[in-house]
Amino acid sequence: MRRKKSGSSFGVLFLFALIIGGALYIYNSAIFERDVPEITMENNGYWNLKKPLKIVIDDASGLKSYKIVLKNNGERQILQHEQFITPESALHVEVSPPKSAYAMKTKDITISIEATDASKWNMLNGNSVKVEYKLKIDKKRPQLSNVANSYKIKKGGAALVVFKAKDDNLKDLYIQTNFGKKFQVTSFYKEGYYISLLAWPVTENSFRATVVATDAADNIAKINVPLYLKDKRYRISKIKLSDKFLNGKIAELAEEFAETAGVDDKIEQFKIINEDVRAKNEKLIHDITSNVPEEMISNFKIKKMYPLKNAAIVAHFGDHRLYSYQGSEVSESYHLGLDMASNAMAKIKPQNSGDVVYADYNGLYGNMPIIHHGLGLYTLYGHCSSLNVANGDSIRAKAQIANTGKSGYAMGDHLHFGVLIQGIEVRPAEWMDTQWMKLNISNVIKDAKEIIDRG
Ligand SMILES: [Zn+2]
Repeated sequence: MRRKKSGSSFGVLFLFALIIGGALYIYNSAIFERDVPEITMENNGYWNLKKPLKIVIDDASGLKSYKIVLKNNGERQILQHEQFITPESALHVEVSPPKSAYAMKTKDITISIEATDASKWNMLNGNSVKVEYKLKIDKKRPQLSNVANSYKIKKGGAALVVFKAKDDNLKDLYIQTNFGKKFQVTSFYKEGYYISLLAWPVTENSFRATVVATDAADNIAKINVPLYLKDKRYRISKIKLSDKFLNGKIAELAEEFAETAGVDDKIEQFKIINEDVRAKNEKLIHDITSNVPEEMISNFKIKKMYPLKNAAIVAHFGDHRLYSYQGSEVSESYHLGLDMASNAMAKIKPQNSGDVVYADYNGLYGNMPIIHHGLGLYTLYGHCSSLNVANGDSIRAKAQIANTGKSGYAMGDHLHFGVLIQGIEVRPAEWMDTQWMKLNISNVIKDAKEIIDRG
């Protein structure tokens, strides 16, 4: 009896262990996993009905089935439904919009995605999950139209454009060019209207500007800015480097810049200064002058520029300078401002008010203040002997900001006057010409406002 009893209790224990072990096995086994399938759908809350919806469904034990349903206004429509004999994993599903989606009365839809995995859990039924995404249908492209703009743009010069852009979910608005530059736009005068100054870089042979509007559903609209293109030939100056110049000004500058440290060859020094140092100095200028304030503007008034009284023009904008030494070309550069000279240490007084965004030494440009006049229009004053302003100052029109000098890469006392639009140097001559200013700036603003006021 005792033996039998102990044997039977051993049997019960064995059975119990078997059940526990079996349960543990099931509990820890991959085919009995208890995680629901993972569902993701690429979306930002909008659907333009052009691109398919991209859905990824994944599960450790594979998928047995899934179902995608579109719900709209109480109606349900199955978009896709599949069952798999062999479990699928990392399933990528693309769902094209159903025809009915184009005729739906409300723009708000729900995409409901259900999936069940191939796990033996849940009495062999597997783990199920349902995920819902709310989307807004937007298949309408933004509306774009030209309002007013300069009639033409000259190579190296500027233009002004005002246009209208309308969309309920406008996401991105800018002006694309053929040379890669994207001009930022500023809200102008009334809601839905925008303004931008444009610049045709002197180094580019063609110019094309296209307004691009994108909405949250990725509907895109484009219109061309209708500008008549006017070519302009710029001077090519061949400059022979003399030993006097190399041993004088260049040797002096070479001592100043870290880039020329350890370089003894005079031509190498010149190349580094004319190319590397110049590129670095110009990058700083371009970075500072690329900024455009975002706030809406209701007007843009600029007076004819003439920062130096009774000055003679000593070098023009856009000169392509080719440097040679002992008969062979060694370097080149573009002169991106207008050089003006009067007396030594003459007073520099811009005609327009603005904000000082830089007032410091900048390599070849010497002591250099930069003033922002609004709308991404900047003026720059190089080679100054002394500065009367500091970064962050607001200046009034005709305030004396500096004195001319020969700091940086300058042979004699003069002002290097630069005008920049969103980081691109333009011809100062246009901004010093009453007729050009009237035709391209004040008249465009006036015309635009009249058109906008008419509705
Ligand atoms: Zn200059």
